[in-house]
Amino acid sequence: MGGMTRHDLHSHSTASDGTLSPTELVGCAVKAGVDVLALTDHDTLDGYAEAARVASTQVLHLVAGVEISVTWKNMTLHVLGLNIDPECQALLDGLQGLLGMRDWRAGEIARKLEKAGIPGALAGADAYRSGRILSRTHFAHFLHEQGCAASPRDVFKRYLVKGKPGYVRGEWAPMEEALGWITAAGGLPVIAHPARYSLTRSKLARLIVDFREAGGVGLEVVSGSHSRDETLHMAALSREHKLFASAGSDYHGPEKPWVNLGHLRPLPNGCIPIWEADSWPHAA
Ligand code: AMP
Ligand code: MN
Ligand code: MN
Ligand code: MN
Repeated sequence: MGGMTRHDLHSHSTASDGTLSPTELVGCAVKAGVDVLALTDHDTLDGYAEAARVASTQVLHLVAGVEISVTWKNMTLHVLGLNIDPECQALLDGLQGLLGMRDWRAGEIARKLEKAGIPGALAGADAYRSGRILSRTHFAHFLHEQGCAASPRDVFKRYLVKGKPGYVRGEWAPMEEALGWITAAGGLPVIAHPARYSLTRSKLARLIVDFREAGGVGLEVVSGSHSRDETLHMAALSREHKLFASAGSDYHGPEKPWVNLGHLRPLPNGCIPIWEADSWPHAA
């Protein structure tokens, strides 16, 4: 694959909190000129089979992926697993446990929202999901529909983040465990949108050290949610800590027009793209 190959290694479908079905997402990626797309739904592989079916009729190469919700030092982080075997039982079992945590948390969120004067949020959020994953995004759509805030994004700020009435802390996968599932499935673990966690420089360095010790190999340097400066900072960290650099839009659907599928900044100089790793499967 040459330097002109367009990669987008982070995207969501209706199997988690995206708004396009796996079929629609692949179609959209083809239209956008993406050559290599990773489907990385939150805590589930349920969208992969459909996406793979459609991708097999297209020139697009589909990478099996997942974005795992992880707890590290009491914080929630997201770790991508790229090129995983979607039939790996250890991974599927691990993700199944996270599904239980999500359902418990959804009940707690609804209970807290009811106390805050918003009844019916569990059924309301449920109506917005199409897969097994119930996400805060689905609550945000319901609360927006109820007129609680001007946009789903605004709902997050007012209700769903730490310190707000509908916030519930989840106990997600311990980082070492999540990396164990990914490596058992033959995948490459990558820290998703590392600039989004508001970590101090020293905490971020600590995270990277722990992540590498647990088998992590990549940092998402280019992300739809990174500014240019953040991208350059993450590029420097990837070079310093010898992590492969990944690039993904974190596309969730056309409702967020500021995030475009497949239209990403190039990786800054000196980063080694994760698709050049020896363990990255290469199409003949
Ligand atoms: P969950 O994994 O259910 O806690 O939901 C996390 C998802 O909510 C993320 O993957 C984003 O898609 C979305 N999200 C998180 N924070 C925000 C925010 N401040 N504004 C809009 N969407 C957000
Ligand atoms: Mn999401
Ligand atoms: Mn994420
Ligand atoms: Mn994501």
